Amino acid sequence: MVSVLEQLSLYAKKLVQSGLVVGAGGNLSIREGDYMYISPSGFDLQEIEDHQWVKVDIRTGDVLSDLKPSSEILMHLECFRNRPDVHAVLHAHPSYSVGVSSTGKEIPSMFPDFPAMVKNIAYIDYVIPTTNVLAEEVVKVIDNTDVIVMRNHGVLTLGKSMKEAYFFMQLTEEAAKVYTISSIVGNPRVLTEEECEDLKNLSAERYRAKLLKDS
Ligand SMILES: [Zn+2]
Repeated sequence: MVSVLEQLSLYAKKLVQSGLVVGAGGNLSIREGDYMYISPSGFDLQEIEDHQWVKVDIRTGDVLSDLKPSSEILMHLECFRNRPDVHAVLHAHPSYSVGVSSTGKEIPSMFPDFPAMVKNIAYIDYVIPTTNVLAEEVVKVIDNTDVIVMRNHGVLTLGKSMKEAYFFMQLTEEAAKVYTISSIVGNPRVLTEEECEDLKNLSAERYRAKLLKDS
């Protein structure tokens, strides 16, 4: 059984190595009981050691470690406070998702896994990061979605596990990337609403069951 801290360190490295964040950008957290563990401020994500994850009381926001938590702490706290079903929160700055959404467009369904797995995506226009303004914008949409795209900034994903949150992040970025490639080559054919509905009905349960089994 991999501990919460080991999971955080593992996915922090994956985020950097997969290019979903660069430098000290991005942050992630996992719920454990009444507390969450979140990345410390100012660290390159792949250099955080297991003991350096910052413990925070979810209800009060009290920081119980010596290191300073990520500046997006409020956003993470609100995710756990408003969504009891969520156990992991991931925030990254993936290039294609930020690129596509910052034109004002939404990231379309280009391949089956995307509509089958991601039930709803919310979009937030740019607000200044690391503030309660951003946390409040997230709270407004958080009930109905596990993927929030912040234009000119990044993406926030929520999961029942870190594996699920990471999977949502990968799928969103892949959809934006395929759409970008397709737009350069020609005129993209996007899956129709009917095709997406069929995929949601047919595959969602099977995909989700498999994902949860593996996590
Ligand atoms: Zn950010």
